[in-house]
Amino acid sequence: MIPPIANRFVAGEEPEAALAHVAEVNDRGVGGILNLLGEHYDDRPDADADADAYCRLVDGIAERGLDASVSVKPSQIGIDLPTTAFEENLARIVDRAIERDVFVWVDMEDHETTDQTLDAVCEQAERHPHGVGLAIQANLKRTEADLARLADVPAAVRLVKGAYDEPAAIAYREQETVDEKYREYLEFLFREFDEGVAVGSHDPAMLEYARELHEEYGTPFEIQMLMGVREDAQFDLAEEYDVYQYAPYGPKWFQYFYRRVRERKKNALFALRAVVGV
Ligand code: FAD
Repeated sequence: MIPPIANRFVAGEEPEAALAHVAEVNDRGVGGILNLLGEHYDDRPDADADADAYCRLVDGIAERGLDASVSVKPSQIGIDLPTTAFEENLARIVDRAIERDVFVWVDMEDHETTDQTLDAVCEQAERHPHGVGLAIQANLKRTEADLARLADVPAAVRLVKGAYDEPAAIAYREQETVDEKYREYLEFLFREFDEGVAVGSHDPAMLEYARELHEEYGTPFEIQMLMGVREDAQFDLAEEYDVYQYAPYGPKWFQYFYRRVRERKKNALFALRAVVGV
C-alpha cells in the first residue's frame, strides 16, 4: 500500500484508485492525465503488459465518462527493445483510445529516444489526426528543428523544460538559457499551432507568458501540472483556463516519489514532517 505521504504525488497503486482520483479533480474543474508508472523494460512481455494496462485504462476512462487522457513513456512499452515492440504497442494503445475518444500523450525521455519517439508519434498522428500529442523538451538544442517538423503534423505538443540530465553538446544546461528557450518555443507554438498548445510547467513566469501569448495570437492553450505540485494554483487557474493534472499511479511508485521529494527542499521538509509527525 502507498503510505499517506506519497499519496500527495501518486494517485494509488491500482487503476481504480487513479480513476477515482481523476473523478475528484474533475469535480473541481481540472482534467486528468494518467500515467502508469514504469520505465526501461527490456523484456517484451513487460512492455506488452503495460500496453495492455493502458488499453484497459482507456476503457475505464471512457466507461466513467471522465475528462482524462493517458500519457505513456516510450521505454515502458518497448523503445529499449531491438524490435518494433514500441511502435506496435503505441499503435495498439492509440487505436483503442481513438475508439474510446480518449487522447494519448507520449512523454519524452532521454535524447537517445527522441528520434524514434518523434517518428512513431508522427506516424500515429498521420493515422489518427488530432488523437495524439507528445512532450517536447526546451533544453534540447534540436528542439527548434523538431518543432518546425511538428508544425506540419496533426499532433499536439506539450512544451516542457526537460527533466533529463543531458550532455552539454546537445543540451542547454544553464537554467537561464533553458527558460529563454522555453519562452522562444512557446512563442513559436502560439504563432504556428492554431489548434492549441499545452504548457507543461509549474513556473508562474512561463504561465504568465502563455497568458500574454494567448492574448496576442488567440491560440487556445491548456496548462498541465503534476499531481502534488502547486495544486492550489491548479484549482485556481482552472476557474479561468483549461488545466490538466498529470497523475501517475501504479505499484512502481517509489522511485517517482523519491524524485519529487529530492527535487525540492520544501517537498523534502514535507516528507520529513510526515515521517516524524510534526
Ligand atoms: P522549474 O524550472 O523547475 O521551476 C520554476 C519555478 O516554478 C520555480 O521557481 C517555482 O516558482 C515554480 N515551481 C516549480 N516546481 C515547484 C514546486 N514543486 N512547488 C512549488 N513551485 C514550484 N519532462 C520531460 O523531460 N519529459 C516529459 O515528458 C515531461 N512531461 C511532463 C509533464 C508535465 C505535466 C509536467 C508538469 C512536467 C513534465 N516534465 C517532463 C518535467 C519538466 O521537463 C520539468 O522538469 C519540470 O516540470 C520542472 O520544470 P518547471 O517548468 O515546472 O519549473
